[in-house]
Amino acid sequence: MKLLEERILKDGNVLGENILKVDSFLTHQVDYQLMKEVGKAFANRFKDAGLTKVVTIEASGIAPALYVAEALELPMIFAKKAKNITMNEGILTAEVYSFTKQVTSTVSIAGKFLSPDDRILIIDDFLANGQAAKGLIQIIEQAGARVEAVGIVIEKSFQEGRGLLEELGYPVVSLARLDRFENGQVVFKEADI
Ligand code: 5GP
Repeated sequence: MKLLEERILKDGNVLGENILKVDSFLTHQVDYQLMKEVGKAFANRFKDAGLTKVVTIEASGIAPALYVAEALELPMIFAKKAKNITMNEGILTAEVYSFTKQVTSTVSIAGKFLSPDDRILIIDDFLANGQAAKGLIQIIEQAGARVEAVGIVIEKSFQEGRGLLEELGYPVVSLARLDRFENGQVVFKEADI
């Protein structure tokens, strides 16, 4: 997605070996106009896929996932990272190691929001080693629902996530694919959309 790649070049900051900071338009301050285009791009790709729900993980997946859900006219569910006393029945959980926080946490979705008839599009802001997406897949499959694909805003193609998810049999569709960082600059490879 050209608009996204241009924005990454303009406002993204490479941190260390493998982190891209995009807090001015995606992970902290959010550019809703860009998110609207993100929503349209995924909706265009998946409009005929028979999807029933969009699933993401808090916090930074919520903004893009909501715009994808709006464009597809579907409900959006986000997995929660902290235990919540109001979530007291039928909780589906998975353990997820956070790439950026370097801690493992239990993420959960209330079972009543997923059913065996559901065909799910997972959306997340970043794909690194695939642990967040893998946890979401485990939760969705506990409900007997089916994951159709994993949609990613920014894929770091030099990490293991895509390989892991494809090996498990889930198509990955990314709007921007980062091939490498060179002298603090992002070098892209061809994106899926
Ligand atoms: P994974 O589970 O694929 O290893 O990592 C994906 C998660 O880690 C995403 O949900 C995202 O929040 C975070 N993440 C991974 N890499 C980056 C990065 O380079 N920059 C930012 N801002 N977040 C990242």
